[in-house]
Formats: sequence, C-alpha cells, structure tokens
Amino acid sequence: MSGVIAPELAGELEQAAGALMHEAIGWRRLVHADPEIGLQLPHTQDLVGSTLERMGLSTVRGRDCSSVVAVIEGERDGPTTLLRADMDALEMPEDTGVDFASRTAGRMHACGHDAHTAMLLAATRVLHDRRGDLRGRVVLMFQPGEEGHDGAKVMLDEGLLEQHRPERAFALHISSVLPSGWISTRPGTLMASADEFHITVTGRGGHASMPHDAADPVPVACSIVTAIQSMVTRTVPAFDPAVVTVSTIHGGTATNVIPEEVHLGGTVRAVSDQSRDTVLVALGELSQGLARAHRCHAEMEIMAHSYPVTVCDDTFAAHTLSVAQALVGDQSITMPTPVMGAEDWSYVLRQVRGSMAFLGAAPAGVARPAPNHSNHFMIDENAMAVGIAMYAAMALSEEPRPE
Ligand SMILES: [Zn+2]
Ligand SMILES: [Zn+2]
Repeated sequence: MSGVIAPELAGELEQAAGALMHEAIGWRRLVHADPEIGLQLPHTQDLVGSTLERMGLSTVRGRDCSSVVAVIEGERDGPTTLLRADMDALEMPEDTGVDFASRTAGRMHACGHDAHTAMLLAATRVLHDRRGDLRGRVVLMFQPGEEGHDGAKVMLDEGLLEQHRPERAFALHISSVLPSGWISTRPGTLMASADEFHITVTGRGGHASMPHDAADPVPVACSIVTAIQSMVTRTVPAFDPAVVTVSTIHGGTATNVIPEEVHLGGTVRAVSDQSRDTVLVALGELSQGLARAHRCHAEMEIMAHSYPVTVCDDTFAAHTLSVAQALVGDQSITMPTPVMGAEDWSYVLRQVRGSMAFLGAAPAGVARPAPNHSNHFMIDENAMAVGIAMYAAMALSEEPRPE
C-alpha cells in the first residue's frame, strides 16, 4: 500500500459514517431549523460544544466569536491535522418547504454549513473512537462568520494556529450542483478573492433643465460602470482572469433635480494576488480620472472584510484526491478551473499547508438543482456519509514520502 489509506480502513470508515447518519442528520436539521448569522451563533455553539463534551472532549469557546475548538489526541506519534466546519447561515428567506425549515424569518442555511457542522461532529466521533490508531492529533475548528464576517480570521487572531501548530489543514464544502457523493478539488487556486468596493461620485447638484450650471454625477457614474469592463480586459492577462460586477447604484430623488452624489457598490473577484491588486488599484484610478474629466470627484472605499484567493497546496490537493479516490473511486475528480466564489478558509491556507474539497450533494431526481445561496437550496443528506468518512480519512491518512 502506497500511503494514503488502506482499502480496509476506507471500508471501516464508510461503515462507521453510515452508523452515525441518523444522528448526523438530526444535528444537521437542528442547526438548519435555527439558523444564526455572523460571528455570534450562541445556539449552534451550544449544540456543538455540548455534543463534543458528551463525547468526552474538552472544548474551548471563542472570546470574540462563537467558535468551538477541541482536540483529539491520538495514541501514536504523527502530524497535527486541522479539520474545519463553518457553522453560519445567510440573511435570506427560505422557500424549500421542508419540515425542518428555518424557524427565523429572513435567515436560512443555504450554503450547507449546517451539514458541514453535523459531518464534522460525526467525524469527531469516528476519530475519537479510533484514537488508538490515530497518529498525531486532530484539531477541530468549528467556525462562525464565514459568510462575509471574517470568522476564520477572528479565530486566527485569537491564536488558533500558534496554540495548536497544525501541519496540515482540510475543509469540506457542500455543493448542491455536484452529483451526490462526488468529491472534487484542484491543486493551486481553488477559489477567487473577494473585495467589496463602494464608489461615491460627487458633483454639484442643480436643476435638471440646466445641467451646464451643475456638475452631474449621474452620467459620470454610468461611464464608470461601463468603463470598468474595458479596464478589466485591458489590465489583467486573459489567462489570469478577474471579474468586477457593479451590483448597486443609487442616486437622485426627483426627475427634475440633478443630485449631488451617486453611489456605486460592487465586488471584485480574482484568481491571483497580482490580478487582485492590479484591478483594485486600476478601479480607484479609473473612477477618480473619469470623475475629474467631468468636473466631478470620486472616492473609492474597499471594505475591510475582504477574502484573499483560496490556494490549495499542490501536493496536498493531490493527496486529498487520492484519499477521496480510496473512498469514492472515480467520483473523486480534479476540478478543471477555480470557482469565482470566495472563502475565508483562504486565511488558513496562507499559513498552513492544506486543501479544501467540494462534496457533491445534488438532490436525487432534480434536473437543475438550486445552487448554494438560493432560497430553494436543498441537499441530498445521504452525501453526508461520504463527508463524514472523508473528514475522518484525511486525519487518518498518511502522506506518501517524496521518492
Ligand atoms: Zn456561502
Ligand atoms: Zn459556504
């Protein structure tokens, strides 16, 4: 056997995961019905903390956020592996009609974080039961605030990595559009960076019938929106793409008034640090230059809660795919391209060698499954068995030594 995991172990993990599915689905549905937002998830934190404590683990709860961290000490020597599940929901209505649907209006678990939480709890149980065979330690990271609240960064700022010094790190993410039970990842860039920007174009208000006496920010804002698209294609290489979307535009109060200000808001996505930096600088220069050309003034603000590019370590991504192969055979696939979504797991992968993999959970018999973040988002819960086994297998896996 060339490292990774033995076929017998794969079989045992599948069996152990299957035996825990009833409980795992129960946890997932409890979390699903009670979605919490941002960095403070008191109910979810209690459920996770008390479940881990009932398993016999001691837990550390976050100071600045509702995180939960626990450690499984293997009885043999080996590496420290960090496993992560994010636990937060989204501010949006749920329209799935399931009987465990959100009980809080305007909040929904539409990104699968409820399943991540339940799968990592079940995997903890599997690993804790096998701690006699476990080489090294497993650090369990239950994280709030992934959806734009920098939760991973808050946990890093609280000293997670300094305290536990993991040598490898792994996270799973549910995808409702990937076939159920499939696992996919790729070496290098997995997900894009995300930066939220706001541009305020300021002119001089006036009467709509006499624009020559005013400095009208409305056409200037419109020019900025269209000029951004040429700027992107003319600034970054075609093989190192970036996306800029202006998704909000606000200005004006009456049809006979030229407003003083127009506000634009949007997002920048890039798949390399270079493209990200280039586009952010060019965006500021472009808006200021265009505004000045029309006797207006533009200010751009980049919001603090930006996520960098998520980059998998090349060899660890290959290792992840080999572990997945041992569990799901040909349903372990290398993604051909990164996805333009973003993840705060990126902060962990900047400091620890590791990967993230997508776990397919497309509901059976649905031709076009609702994607993550849809109000109709649903998953095939059966896929959770694969996720539980995968989390456990990653912690138990041995990496092949370089030849
Ligand atoms: Zn999401
Ligand atoms: Zn997510």
